Amino acid sequence: MAAAAPSHPSADGRRPRRGGGTEPGRERLQDDGARTLTSVEQTKVEDIVQEVFDAYKTNHHDRFLLHRDKHFHYLKRGLRQLTDAYECLDASRPWLCYWILHSLELLEEPISESVASDVCQFLSHCQSPSGGFGGGPGQHPHLAPTYAAVNALCIIGTEEAYNVINREKLLEYLYSLKQPDGSFIMHIGGEVDVRSAYCAASVASLTNIITPTLFERTAEWIARCQNWEGGIGGVPGMEAHGGYTFCGLAALVILKSEDVLNLKSLLHWVTSRQMRFEGGFQGRCNKLVDGCYSFWQAGLLPLLHRALHARGDPSLSMTHWMFDQEALQEYILLCCQCPAGGLLDKPGKSRDFYHTCYCLSGLSIAQHFGSGDLLHEVILGVPENRLQPTHPVYNISPGKVVQAVMHFLKKPVPSPKEESAAN
Ligand SMILES: [Zn+2]
Repeated sequence: MAAAAPSHPSADGRRPRRGGGTEPGRERLQDDGARTLTSVEQTKVEDIVQEVFDAYKTNHHDRFLLHRDKHFHYLKRGLRQLTDAYECLDASRPWLCYWILHSLELLEEPISESVASDVCQFLSHCQSPSGGFGGGPGQHPHLAPTYAAVNALCIIGTEEAYNVINREKLLEYLYSLKQPDGSFIMHIGGEVDVRSAYCAASVASLTNIITPTLFERTAEWIARCQNWEGGIGGVPGMEAHGGYTFCGLAALVILKSEDVLNLKSLLHWVTSRQMRFEGGFQGRCNKLVDGCYSFWQAGLLPLLHRALHARGDPSLSMTHWMFDQEALQEYILLCCQCPAGGLLDKPGKSRDFYHTCYCLSGLSIAQHFGSGDLLHEVILGVPENRLQPTHPVYNISPGKVVQAVMHFLKKPVPSPKEESAAN
């Protein structure tokens, strides 16, 4: 397992702290005198990150601070705009609901009953009469906003929220997207990729609509998306990518089929994506660090840990995930916080709700090891930086996952009307 470690650990198994007087130059890119477009871009990012680290060392001594209040106000304003005016022009409004609500639950900021009810009503308008959710009221359904809407409703977790979801129609919708090879298309007439398998498995498992045939051959299809790099691409034969790899592995965890993958080569691929200098993750080989991969990549480690633990792997740590949890927290806290609230990709980029959600989700993963009785927290900086844990499969709070599953388990699995049409 040590061979897969992302960086140079010190004697205690941790990477030396950059703030602690270690010479950071050792971890920077060495291009051996061969400049390429990629090495020039990488060096530029490292220069900017170096400036941030240096400024931190001179100005703030030893304090890493999560600007909770600033983030809260940024999120609250976004939520009000969503529920009061519905004026956003994009086709991703259920996503905005989910990104904001999940960020708020990580920050332990409750939402009022009236806002929760407004969001429920808004999402019910996004639900299609033929099942699934669209990007806004009256839009065609699509698996991505369907995933976001179901997650948002499970975070709200009220009877009203659960009742929005038409489970019978949702199951019909999923069958209408299922392909004979086990894959799913994202929407009617749309493309196949591994995101759809995850979105389908996520909503179906949360709402208890999994039938014996719904995911037939899906695990085998996902396994075909793992390539020689060890990660998973969008479809068989494509380059490995953090977002697709998360979707593929999380779907397989839901389908209890992680063993169809080569887990060791996946572990090697993902741990190699943590950047030696920046501490954050890149999405693909040779790409730049980006805060959102703090979740898509680091979130793979709890899933891999569980799968390898189930195999009885004796080399697993009982206190740490297999990535440098402190280095990731350092990158998020120093490089990804917008001073006015909200989080971002890397210094110099603008904030948005997507990066706010996934930077905070990654920070939570990096702070909390384990589950159940076996818990170990690694909080960089002050104790107030602690976020709520997140469920590594669904990326909503673990308690909300349990609550939704218990709620929908009381209802029978609908009978699949579209089953015969699927094959
Ligand atoms: Zn990003």
